[in-house]
Formats: sequence, C-alpha cells, structure tokens
Amino acid sequence: MNLINSSIRYGKVALKGLLCNKASTPPFLVLFITSACNLSCGHCFYWKKLNQKDDLTTNEIKKLSEELGSIENLNITGGEPFTREDFSEICRLFINNNSVKKIYVSTNGFFTDRTYSQVKKVLKETSLDLLVIEISLDGMADYHNKLRGNGESFQKALDTYNMLSELGKRDRRLQIHANSTVTSENIEEVRQLSHFLFDHCSSIEHHGIALIRDNWKEQSLQKPAAEKYRKLCLHIETLWKIRKKKRAGSLVEPLLQYAKLETIREGQQVIPCLAGVLSAVVYDNGDVGVCEIHKPLGNLRNRSFFEIWKSPEARILRNAIRAKKCFCTHEISMWPSIVFQPLQLIRAMIGTTLKKKLQES
Ligand code: SF4
Repeated sequence: MNLINSSIRYGKVALKGLLCNKASTPPFLVLFITSACNLSCGHCFYWKKLNQKDDLTTNEIKKLSEELGSIENLNITGGEPFTREDFSEICRLFINNNSVKKIYVSTNGFFTDRTYSQVKKVLKETSLDLLVIEISLDGMADYHNKLRGNGESFQKALDTYNMLSELGKRDRRLQIHANSTVTSENIEEVRQLSHFLFDHCSSIEHHGIALIRDNWKEQSLQKPAAEKYRKLCLHIETLWKIRKKKRAGSLVEPLLQYAKLETIREGQQVIPCLAGVLSAVVYDNGDVGVCEIHKPLGNLRNRSFFEIWKSPEARILRNAIRAKKCFCTHEISMWPSIVFQPLQLIRAMIGTTLKKKLQES
C-alpha cells in the first residue's frame, strides 16, 4: 500500500513538472522560518540578512499554509530554526493543512534542549512519515569552531546528535544527517570529519556535502577546485555506502553530484531546472522566490502567495529558466529537477555509470 501511495505521489509531482503547472502549489517548499542566528559562520551566504527581527509571525505562516495545497517536502531553514519557540507549531500547520509527510530541518545543532522539546512535539504528529534533522558541520572541532565564531559549537552539535540518536531509537521516523559546506580550505577537514562521523556517530545515516554558495561572508574563502571536490564526493560515497543502503535517497546522491559537476564543467543547466514549478522559497520576512539565487518576486505582507506565483514577473522568470538563461549547482532545486523528470533521472543514471566505468578502467 505504501508503495502504491508513493508511486501515486511520485506520478502527481512528475506530471506537475511535465505540465509546468505554474498555478498549483509547488510540492517542494523551502521555508526560512527565522533570520535569527547565534553563530557567525564564514561561509554563510545569508549573513547580510541575519538577525533582522522581522520574521513572519505564527499567524502569517498559518495564512500561507492555509493558502497552499499539498506539499511533498518541507525544508525548514533560517537563521537557526530552533531559535523559534513555535517551531513545532509551524510544522504542525503544514502537516495538517498541506499533508506534509517529510520535513527536513537544517540546524547548527547548538540548542540541544530546545531541539529536544520541539522534535518531541513534532513527532506526536502521527501522519508525519519522516523528520530529518540535518546538522551542519564543516570540519573537525578546531576548524569548525573557528569558522563558526564559537568555541563550543562543535561539542554542542555533538550533544544534539547524541540526544537525537536516543530519540531516534524510540521513533524510527526521526533521521539524523550531517551536512558540510565545502570550500578550497576545508576539503581535508571534511574528509577527516566524514571518517569521524562514520566511526563515532552510528545514528547518522548520511553525510551530505555541498559547494560553498555565492556571497559568503569570509572573503578569504574560495570555491574548491572541481576535481578535488569530485574526489571528495567519491571518497565519502564509498565510505558511507554500507550505511546508505538502507536509505531510499542514497540512490539519487551520486546523480546529484554528477549533475553538479557536469553543470560546472559545461557552465549551463545540464538538468533542466524546475525551480518555480516544483519548488519555491519563502523567506523569514515573507519574500517569495522561485529559488535562493534569483531575487524574490514579491512579499506575502503585500500580496498573497498565488498573486505572486501567478504574476507576470513570475511567468517571465519561468520562461527565462526554461530557456536556460541561468544555471547553478544548488542542491535543493536540483534534487526535484532530477528526481521528478524521469528522462533526466535516466540520463543522470547513465552519465554516472559511464563516468564510474571510465574512472575504473
Ligand atoms: S538553475 Fe539555479 S539559479 Fe536558475 S532557477 Fe534553477 S536554482 Fe535558480
């Protein structure tokens, strides 16, 4: 029954992508719930917009949730999401109003107690299938603490991991991932970290890596060389292979890394991007955008979501995206664009297999 339900859900989203159905709710929503953050990380792309004190209120978020239809994946980010006391209430709104089954939360892992109480409340929602807490770590303790401007941040993240690990033993819907942002400076750190996490954190199911995003804070940081990044991806993929076998998403990660590297190599969209069709971004202040790269199209405090989503500006931007006038390697938009375009999924699978064969020969 689960397989049938999942297939129906997959078919609906894929059809939405095929028809470029702009009038309907984007099934992947990235929701910045706050600009508040306790850390000041060198690689942060959002640093100029942090701590603005103009987050959407619970009622404003409720209004958004009531306007939207069903949502496949809700990605909660910020700022630090667990600084919001109504975190579980926000999750509950989307679970109940939008049939959200999967929630992913990016966190720096600093607030162990708050995370505990909020996660426990969210897990009371029986219709939720999956809650993934993604803890950001950028290297071993000294490097991580320096980059994040806080001497306790690595240990706090581990404390949060330990707490979540215990909670996860009682409720299998809770998963823990680690995420690292890669620069030219921390490739070796991330490699060491990956081994550390694999050896000491048996409840972490996945270590994801992402390229540093443009407009980062610390100017001395650089993007990594593509070849070094590729080798790091391969190394981590091999290391985590055994643990990943249990996870459905693990099939797509090599395809995602392949698509990112091909996009860098070709300097254009390799997988046609469906941002603005399958995915949307709502920022903490109510700005609405198709992705985190393009400028927002409007603000929920002036217009409703669908007034913005169906506006002439949104149509012009969608046409430009379809004409491949932009490109990027941003995972959160690339993921649905690969998974929910069956032809692109097959293409990425063939490309990844051929690349591997070439490397092995
Ligand atoms: S390719 Fe990148 S910049 Fe262009 S719409 Fe997609 S996510 Fe945004």
